[in-house]
Amino acid sequence: MFELTREHLDAQAVAREVAAAVAPYADEADEYTEVHPGVLKELRASGLARHVVPAEYGGVSEQLDPLTIAVVREALMYSSAHLDSLFGMQGVGSYSLSVGGSDELKRTWLPRVAALEAIAGLALTEPDVGSDLRAVTTTLTVDGDELVIDGRKSFITNGGAADFYCVLAREGDGYSMALVPADSAGLSIEPGAGLIAPHILGELTFDGVRVPATHRLGVPGKAFSLMLQTLAVFRVTVAGSAVGLAQAALDEAVRHAQERTQFGRPLAELGAVSQSLALSWTETEAARSFVYRAAALAKNDPLGHLDFSSMAKVSATEAASRIVDRSVQTMGRFGLVRGSKIERLYRNARPLRVYEGATEVLLDSLARRLNKKGR
Ligand SMILES: Cc1cc2nc3c(=O)[nH]c(=O)nc-3n(C[C@H](O)[C@H](O)[C@H](O)COP(=O)(O)OP(=O)(O)OC[C@H]3O[C@@H](n4cnc5c(N)ncnc54)[C@H](O)[C@@H]3O)c2cc1C
Repeated sequence: MFELTREHLDAQAVAREVAAAVAPYADEADEYTEVHPGVLKELRASGLARHVVPAEYGGVSEQLDPLTIAVVREALMYSSAHLDSLFGMQGVGSYSLSVGGSDELKRTWLPRVAALEAIAGLALTEPDVGSDLRAVTTTLTVDGDELVIDGRKSFITNGGAADFYCVLAREGDGYSMALVPADSAGLSIEPGAGLIAPHILGELTFDGVRVPATHRLGVPGKAFSLMLQTLAVFRVTVAGSAVGLAQAALDEAVRHAQERTQFGRPLAELGAVSQSLALSWTETEAARSFVYRAAALAKNDPLGHLDFSSMAKVSATEAASRIVDRSVQTMGRFGLVRGSKIERLYRNARPLRVYEGATEVLLDSLARRLNKKGR
């Protein structure tokens, strides 16, 4: 099965240090819709972003380790969603480059991603295209030794803050990807929607954007697989974030239930409350075990274990939502106060069930796989 090795524990310890340093201003950071300078400084100094880049290009391991990334995200999300996103997106935004870029392109960008000196973005979603990514309308055409990109991308994390975007587009009958530097002529970026859990989001318009043909990622017409490979490595790490959030919500509820007295006893000793806390603890530990196992499986064959990564994401993100909701209930009226930590956790839990594969979309594909197995 899996064991957290010395390397995993070392990465976890560093992540916990960063999380603790950010905790005093996490409320403020999680309201930011641009990069929070303090969070960036802490994360950069920690060297953690090296875990999402291959060793050859300034990273830590030859092959990315989803378990390390999940364990780190768990620790970071315990403190701040902004911190978790800044770390996670360095990997999500650059993985198609790591897998599909030319050596020269990788040498240009990846050491800077690893050092958090360049911020990465992944542009798949469009105003009218979400879960059904095969319906993208952004186009990529070849003109001499250049690639030309036209279209719009929506809800892009790090939009406006990133130094480059890996963009999914239609090319003829297939799908292609290209790396577009943020300062490319013809690329304009508007701030994205304000979310209940604030997030760095941008709306990207590509108006005849030209990049050298060497900016192509993957094989022409066959780059959809790069996106699948990204999800195969990183989906399970979102599940790691969900475990961190669940733990934070549980800890808040336990603290409150021990401190507050009603009917002459601490809330934690009232039957229904104690049962609720015990159930949240059980669900948090179950999610953690499953996420670690799925992440360990994903290391050697991410695509081969995508089902487990999807299951881990569904179970951990749905559990986090239940746990944070139960924690709010345990805290009674104090759980409803704007600006409180539990309110921030409640809001931060919600997007986890939508991005990188909405629960229903993942269950749909799992159901199809299950049916095929039975035949
Ligand atoms: C905080 C945040 C950050 C994001 N960052 C990025 C980013 O960096 N890059 C990027 O490209 N995109 C990003 N996105 C977009 C994200 O990937 C999409 O929101 C996601 O793919 C779902 O698409 P949608 O929101 O358009 O929902 P839709 O596709 O409209 O689906 C709505 C709902 O319908 C249901 N549904 C849809 N299809 C099916 C199906 N086949 N079977 C069963 N039920 C289904 C699900 O319940 C789903 O939640 C981000 C979104 C958020 C919220």
